[in-house]
Amino acid sequence: MSTTERRTPVNTVDRVAFRDMCAEFARREVGPRWQEADRTKTFPRDFYVAAAKAGLIGITADESLGGAGLGCYEEAIAMEEMSKVNPNLAVSVLVQNVAGSILYEYGTPEQREIARRVIAGECMVAITVTEPEAGNDVAGLKTEAVRDGDHWVLNGMKSFITLGGDADVLVTLARVDRASGRNGMAFFAVDRRSPGVTTKQIETYVNRPAPTYRVTFDDVRVPEARRVDAGFREIMAGFNRERVMVAARWLGHMQNALNWAREYASVRHQFGRPIGANQSIAFQLAQAHVDVEAARHLTYHAAAKWDSGVPIRDLILDVSSAKLFATQAVVRVTQTALHVGGGWGLTEELPAMRLALDALVAPVTVGSWEIQLRAIAREMGLPCD
Ligand SMILES: Cc1cc2nc3c(=O)[nH]c(=O)nc-3n(C[C@H](O)[C@H](O)[C@H](O)COP(=O)(O)OP(=O)(O)OC[C@H]3O[C@@H](n4cnc5c(N)ncnc54)[C@H](O)[C@@H]3O)c2cc1C
Repeated sequence: MSTTERRTPVNTVDRVAFRDMCAEFARREVGPRWQEADRTKTFPRDFYVAAAKAGLIGITADESLGGAGLGCYEEAIAMEEMSKVNPNLAVSVLVQNVAGSILYEYGTPEQREIARRVIAGECMVAITVTEPEAGNDVAGLKTEAVRDGDHWVLNGMKSFITLGGDADVLVTLARVDRASGRNGMAFFAVDRRSPGVTTKQIETYVNRPAPTYRVTFDDVRVPEARRVDAGFREIMAGFNRERVMVAARWLGHMQNALNWAREYASVRHQFGRPIGANQSIAFQLAQAHVDVEAARHLTYHAAAKWDSGVPIRDLILDVSSAKLFATQAVVRVTQTALHVGGGWGLTEELPAMRLALDALVAPVTVGSWEIQLRAIAREMGLPCD
């Protein structure tokens, strides 16, 4: 498949029933796991298996691979509902879908078999792109693959790889032809347990239930059969769908924060009445409600447009607007929740601080605020470099 062709949904579903199913899954499978995972900074692999069993891995993949053949819209519903309980276990599903889609959209039959196993809950993957010196500037990556007979030899270092130490296969972007610049890159499906691959967890304040890793490739031999016919252009195209999912992730998180803050403002009394009786508090919550609803409209508008099959270049304005707004709004809404919590909001007895801390990754990943603003400005016809 090329980056100009796109998979559109082949199946439809009752979206109200689907949302209810996702919400029930989140209550049953995310709820009991996330706090322990957050405390220990350890991903619970049985959650991945549960998500696969529930059909939440490969929502948009072909039924021949065990996928559901549904759309970006349903994928966003699943992401929103899981994120209402915890955005970090939710992101582990997002990672499976993004890395898996590189294999099933562009892969050979053998590589699509790996994707089938990902969808079945038998093989975890990680999307392995960012490097210490190549964050937003993906074209600047240095990890190199050099051909040696029927193998490639990989050398380089990746950083911030979500589940990099947990995954079975690292879907890794590397340079294969230095002279061709961004066109000289390819993905490799690298077994994490291959000789020469080492991983080390990066200690972060965010994403703790789905930790990030430094991954080092030191003369790692990868068979030619594991080179995927996809590189820079394909990951950039894929980032657009991922950005819709990121918007849905933060939509769920901000809805959770607002629900909590509204409830707290009703039950916390000062000066003989609920703090929410003060206009100054109530208005902040009203403003947060508008943020949530605006993020919801932008997110599902972008998802529906994606599913309509229009070319990716005609989606960028919608996708980047949704991603920018949701990632800005989640910071505002969680800060409001923290403020409503007062001194108790800063303690571990209330969820406000954890909600606010988790939101701080929103402006950063899959193209920062500035990168989205640049994309929007360009789509507006501005001569923005
Ligand atoms: C929790 C977490 C999970 C992640 N998971 C993954 C993963 O699974 N796989 C993966 O490959 N990567 C992952 N990443 C990487 C993430 O996508 C990068 O961190 C991101 O691309 C930012 O890179 P950086 O930190 O090097 O920032 P930099 O690119 O150094 O940016 C620093 C600052 O400079 C600004 N900036 C940069 N360029 C410009 C410009 N041209 N114009 C204006 N401002 C600019 C940025 O907006 C930002 O504010 C993850 C990161 C985190 C924190």
